[in-house]
Amino acid sequence: MHSTVFSDEEFFKILEDFPVLKREVNGKRLVYLDNAASTLKSKSVIEKMTDFYLNHYSNIHRAVHKLASEATVAYEQAREKIAKFLNANPEEVIFTSGTTLGINFLVNSLVRSGMLNPQDTVLLSQVEHHANLVPWVRLSKFYGFKVEYIEADDKGVITTDAILKAKLKNPKVVSITGQSNVTGQEMPLELIRETFKDSIFIVDGAQLVPHKRIDVKKLDIDFLVFSGHKMIAPTGIGVLYGKRTLLEKLEPFLYGGEMIDKVTFEDVTFNILPYRFEAGTQHIAGAVGLGYTIDYLESIGFEKIEKHIAELSKYLMERLLELDFVEVYGPIDDSHRSLVSFNVEGVHPHDVSHILDENFGVATRSGHHCAQPLMSVLARGSKIDFPNSTVRASVYFYNTKEDIDILVEGLKHIKRWFE
Ligand code: PLP
Repeated sequence: MHSTVFSDEEFFKILEDFPVLKREVNGKRLVYLDNAASTLKSKSVIEKMTDFYLNHYSNIHRAVHKLASEATVAYEQAREKIAKFLNANPEEVIFTSGTTLGINFLVNSLVRSGMLNPQDTVLLSQVEHHANLVPWVRLSKFYGFKVEYIEADDKGVITTDAILKAKLKNPKVVSITGQSNVTGQEMPLELIRETFKDSIFIVDGAQLVPHKRIDVKKLDIDFLVFSGHKMIAPTGIGVLYGKRTLLEKLEPFLYGGEMIDKVTFEDVTFNILPYRFEAGTQHIAGAVGLGYTIDYLESIGFEKIEKHIAELSKYLMERLLELDFVEVYGPIDDSHRSLVSFNVEGVHPHDVSHILDENFGVATRSGHHCAQPLMSVLARGSKIDFPNSTVRASVYFYNTKEDIDILVEGLKHIKRWFE
């Protein structure tokens, strides 16, 4: 039995859809535990995208011919599917290339619209991915706003106390990850919203959206950004959700074709929502593919995906905590999901990751995971000679407890070899 959530028949169907899982790497069955970096791709989504490219593709919106109308319908249907998935309205869903573009878009647009000014404070947390840190830090140098942080404790955990303490900073904007890509901590988004009632609330959903249904209305999120490639969709496509009332006030980040209403040699008026934020030719097939992905995840059962991943996350943590030579970072309670970062005492994480791949067919990630400042926080709490990086194992819905067992066996071997 692969899961208590999916029947064997359901799980077999899932595995059939990810043929690479039958591949051998270095003479071993592939165990793919690098999902937080990017997930595997589904055969059925790719087949539908291929059909779109081969039989229905054209540029969208502009032309009056049949193919243009079919491609436009497919693109707009994808937007509707995503809106439904998030409990948003279609005009509040903007296609981007991914989370990184979404955040850069927001910083620039908020400043240009006068919604973020030199006297204002932006509050981030100390566990942010560089995508939700570098744009704020760099652009604060040009525009003069201040960047402050909700502090993480020595384990890299954002506590309720730290969130409440940050209230004193009185931020204009709170931009926070929904789930850390290093510690796996799911942030208490209700509490954060409640604490910063009057702030513009931005959620980086890159890690959270792939396995947890986010209701933007219920959570009162102002802007949510995420990437398709972390939820089996193609690379190069992502979403920026924005509350209609705020989008209406926002100056676009990118200017060019498609986003305009009237253009003269002197000035420009903008198109209606959401098109004013989609300048130039979009990644049409990517957007359509993200729509097919939503269909696919809903057909498997998104609640089942959530449960299966919760079960695997708990098992992954339990198995790693059994190993007295492994140091685990982040929360070990139920607030952690889908990934665990750790180190094997006395062995560099790059070596651990390399040996896991080479000898056990296990794909993990090692490094600072695009969160260099957080590494210095983890170093503070570490009881080993902290190498400023970690190994990260991350699961998705096609993984099994057996995959985790293989990882753990690999780690035991590594420890023995280095003794
Ligand atoms: N935010 C988080 C929490 C992430 O984990 C990542 C990617 O790993 C990003 C942002 C950036 O996503 P992308 O590279 O798809 O823009």
